[in-house]
Amino acid sequence: MKNQFSKSTPLTERSWQTEKQSGAVALERLAGLFEAAPLAVLTGAGISTDSGIPDYRGAGAPPRTPMSISQFMEDPAYRRRFWAGARVGALRAAGVAPNAGHLALARFEAAGLTNGVITQNVDNLHRRAGSRSVVELHGNGSVIRCVEHDHRFTRDQVLGWFDELNPGFAARNAAAEIAPDGDAIVSGTDSVETPTCPECGSILRPDVVYFGELVPKPVFETAESLVASAGGLVLIGTSLAVNTGIRLVHRAQLRGIPIAVINRGPTAIDARESVSVRIDAGAAETLEQLEQILR
Ligand SMILES: [Zn+2]
Repeated sequence: MKNQFSKSTPLTERSWQTEKQSGAVALERLAGLFEAAPLAVLTGAGISTDSGIPDYRGAGAPPRTPMSISQFMEDPAYRRRFWAGARVGALRAAGVAPNAGHLALARFEAAGLTNGVITQNVDNLHRRAGSRSVVELHGNGSVIRCVEHDHRFTRDQVLGWFDELNPGFAARNAAAEIAPDGDAIVSGTDSVETPTCPECGSILRPDVVYFGELVPKPVFETAESLVASAGGLVLIGTSLAVNTGIRLVHRAQLRGIPIAVINRGPTAIDARESVSVRIDAGAAETLEQLEQILR
């Protein structure tokens, strides 16, 4: 194509083509890793951004103030704001669904290409997509448990109790601003009644690992066992800012199995020699392309 810029464009054009080609080569190399199937998979927030859930650590993300569990346990006003926000946020979360990336991973597992999925996400989207072997390192926000006896309920059940205790509250506050964590920022919660455990009356909390809490040991051990029995480890949509993810990478390195990274933007392990495939692209588009090659 000739135009007035033709003299200055060849270099740019060539480097763009090289980049594009290396992306295709990386994808082929990733597909090649599946000769050692099943592979283990670790996902982070980047796989859910295509479902409309923001990535707190991704580029341009708003600053995040993580909820601390001591605040939640010790301050009734904090729990009132939490449940009010969760109730109003749920009105708008109704449209959130698994995306092409979650669905592809569920098909990979069904085909024996992966041994399930280890995830740092609490959004329940892997299970909803049909993945069977799901290790949720940070828990599952759709499960609510009581702090005294571990009685378990669904979030929908507890939000229903919230509505019985606070008739009309959700509708009156439907226009409230939504925070990055998906919950609404609701003011005027002083008179809100918070639901408690119907079995024992104790405080109800989401079954997620909050700031200041540790990943439960049996959960981490299950994740380790998936890495221990895999022919490779594929990291998807995570910058590996979380320590638990790095520990699983170390397990893979000790075993000498190949590691692939699919993530938009830099990760903590980009410089490591053990990373044999690096794809800087979105999770859903990459997994769809990978599935076409594997077919
Ligand atoms: Zn209870």
